[in-house]
Amino acid sequence: MAGSPRRRTTATPVLAASGAEPVAGLPGVGPKLAEKLAARGLASLQDLWLHLPRRYEDRTRVSPIADLAPGRPAQIEGRVEAVERGFRYRPMLRVAVSDDSRATLVLRFFHFNRAQAAQFLPGRRIVCYGEPRPGQRGLEMIHPSYRLLADDEGPVRRDRLDPVYPAVEGIGPASLAKLVGKALERLPPAEELELLPAGLRERLGLPTLRDALLTLHRPPPDVSMADFAMGRHPSQRRLALEELLAHHLSLRRQRIALRRSGAMPVRPPGKLAAALRQRLAFALTGAQQRVFDEICRDMARPEPMLRLVQGDVGSGKTVVAALAAANAVEAGRQVALMAPTELLAEQHLGNFRVWLEPLGVRVTWLAGKVAGRARAAALDDIAHGRAQVVVGTHALMQENVAFASLALVIVDEQHRFGVHQRLALRDKGLAGSQVPHQLVMTATPIPRTLAMSAYADLDVSVIDQMPPGRTPVTTAAVSAERRGEVVERIRAACAEGRQAYWVCTLIEDSDEVEAQAVQSTFEQLQAQLPGLRIGLLHGRMKPAEKQEMMARFKAGELQLLVATTVIEVGVDVPNASLMIIENAERLGLAQLHQLRGRVGRGAEASSCVLMYKPPLSQMARERLEVMRASGDGFVIAEKDLDLRGPGELLGTRQTGLASFRIADPIRDAALLPEVHRAAEGLLASDPRLADRLVERWVGGAARYAGA
Ligand code: ADP
Ligand code: MG
Repeated sequence: MAGSPRRRTTATPVLAASGAEPVAGLPGVGPKLAEKLAARGLASLQDLWLHLPRRYEDRTRVSPIADLAPGRPAQIEGRVEAVERGFRYRPMLRVAVSDDSRATLVLRFFHFNRAQAAQFLPGRRIVCYGEPRPGQRGLEMIHPSYRLLADDEGPVRRDRLDPVYPAVEGIGPASLAKLVGKALERLPPAEELELLPAGLRERLGLPTLRDALLTLHRPPPDVSMADFAMGRHPSQRRLALEELLAHHLSLRRQRIALRRSGAMPVRPPGKLAAALRQRLAFALTGAQQRVFDEICRDMARPEPMLRLVQGDVGSGKTVVAALAAANAVEAGRQVALMAPTELLAEQHLGNFRVWLEPLGVRVTWLAGKVAGRARAAALDDIAHGRAQVVVGTHALMQENVAFASLALVIVDEQHRFGVHQRLALRDKGLAGSQVPHQLVMTATPIPRTLAMSAYADLDVSVIDQMPPGRTPVTTAAVSAERRGEVVERIRAACAEGRQAYWVCTLIEDSDEVEAQAVQSTFEQLQAQLPGLRIGLLHGRMKPAEKQEMMARFKAGELQLLVATTVIEVGVDVPNASLMIIENAERLGLAQLHQLRGRVGRGAEASSCVLMYKPPLSQMARERLEVMRASGDGFVIAEKDLDLRGPGELLGTRQTGLASFRIADPIRDAALLPEVHRAAEGLLASDPRLADRLVERWVGGAARYAGA
């Protein structure tokens, strides 16, 4: 960040836009502090305005000690009764405080210096704030915040709740609060700050942005904390509404711009696709056929298709994509297929080669690991149109990849890519202003209103039917204490010629730790299952090793594959019919569903064992029960939402939803219809205002993705 203090003097304070003013413009914010703030994404005044408190402390009143209740934070005022220092296990300071209610509270400190300890003299007046808990002798507060009072000092009463902000590394909580306070002093008057049409606000009974921010940073004491905790307070809804609206507008604008740019209509006779269908060992399901028809209709138009295909794991999205690709190739154009992991991209490569190469189509591979001469050759083939279908990973988006006539971009498992990331591929399109058709596929079932919001720039098709002959996967939750039985089950299954996955999960977000853990599980299983051919797969392995392992498993050479969640998306080995998921209680339902989707792909009855470490919390038990009871991704997604507490964001990784600062598209789902309506109105009546909203909330990302 260019947090140079010199800049300060030159920044013209345009009032209406003052939210964009850098934090360095605040008194006392030097380059060092600005840098720490920037590291946390707090670069402008507006960033500080939107850095909302995590919780509040109520110092608006003083509670009698006798009225304290465990777990309910409070402020008390009293006199020091007695002081005790101990060293039994570790240094400890205990200060007994009593007040007029004739009750006593113990303050307990584990970290303190001598000067601090010396302050507590019997008889001194003290005010402190903390959460009482049951102690050995009545209630106690551990490390409360406190202040010793002079005898003539009056009682401490604030008229607003004190905010406690999400921490920023290197800045103390008090300094941070002060800083946000200073930023709030610069809040422009309500009418200058306001971007939402008054009619909308009034209809929903929501405050102005200025009032909402002031209330959220310093709520009055009578505010309902329950509403706050649930994100239901009008001030919170007000911010969420504006943010959702801005994101929605941003996506809608992208869509309008894209549509305007035009595309090459693709309407070949359809011979290639027909030949491909002939070669398939199965007939398309009705749902696949319907979605393919929708795609053909889209692609025949002179404006770009922007279509999302949603279909549960195993519903057969890949073949629909291949048919669309065949059409583009027959029309003399190129196709790019991008997958989020190399493993999945490689599997698509295999499928597309088997399906299309016998029909004379050239399928080219381009991933990050393709290097040197092979890369140069691939790039040359792509640039000269010899490569008709190009399959790969993010590598496809790199600048030096130039297509001769790209007409169709297919993005698989789009939730693994950023919302704006997938849009980058369209720049690889045809010459002039035309852009390629886009087909985006996802297995993430999200409720309809949400989909409308998350994919406002896309039309949605749903493959809502499974290929015939699938036997539902039987799921059981089993305690890790019964690991021996589970191992026995694998032995029996493999003896019958079946194949199995053993999935290791870890919370640590480190490939290395994960690799170690999966390695030791692998060794352990090898020892317990001698004679079984076991493979190992994790993110730390070289791509060639992964590929080989996968190929051996697919060929049936390996009977058991011990893997991390790298196999989560797309992996398709129909003969694998048993899956063990270790520490299943740690994973989200969406992820469990994806993983489980790796089995149940063949005619064989499949099962999935969710192994958990006891004891299970009530919530974890319910979640595993949902998995056991249902195999339908949409049902699971709905239940998942029910079981989630408010504020527990459905991660970007799971849904492909944009990440929000304030809004939680799940919690705030009720606002979405209003958001859609308002967006419609604004785009028609006041596009400039729409621009300002997008600028405020989406800023740089929109500029990048905008046309
Ligand atoms: P996903 O939608 O999860 O990407 P895939 O495209 O990997 O699913 O398909 C899963 C499996 O189902 C593949 O082995 C595929 O060949 C097979 N399949 C797809 N469509 C049909 C169909 N209509 N009938 C039978 N099997 C099918
Ligand atoms: Mg797939």
